[in-house]
Amino acid sequence: MKKPGKMLSEVLKSLFKKPATLRYPYIKEKMPKNFRGLINFIQEKCIGCKICMRDCPANVINIIKIADKKFEAEFKNDQCLFCAQCVESCPRDTLEVTPEYELATLDRSSLKVRYHAKPDAETKTEPQVEIK
Ligand code: SF4
Ligand code: SF4
Repeated sequence: MKKPGKMLSEVLKSLFKKPATLRYPYIKEKMPKNFRGLINFIQEKCIGCKICMRDCPANVINIIKIADKKFEAEFKNDQCLFCAQCVESCPRDTLEVTPEYELATLDRSSLKVRYHAKPDAETKTEPQVEIK
């Protein structure tokens, strides 16, 4: 056990040191390059092969055909393991990992999202409608 005098000097030293932790959520950590956060679906790249559905270990994804060669996706993100197996399996790079990790919510149903088709000129889709 340390002597009180030595402890006091360490306490005084630590008063002037920078804290080792970040003041989250006021200061946010930048995620490392290969961080696996929320999965994004790029609708216009999808060919509807459903390999992602087959390979997802948590049954998160549902691919829906809405027109000839046009597909939308439903994601139950409350069940996602963020393993990125779907990204690995997709032959068309339709799915991508994002650095988004702030998904905590009091309303679990808000994590169920549908990626709708957008006009052809736009390249990325964002979740627009919640599935209740
Ligand atoms: S694996 Fe890729 S291309 Fe195939 S249905 Fe899933 S998202 Fe679409
Ligand atoms: S990251 Fe893993 S659990 Fe989540 S949708 Fe993709 S395959 Fe399924």
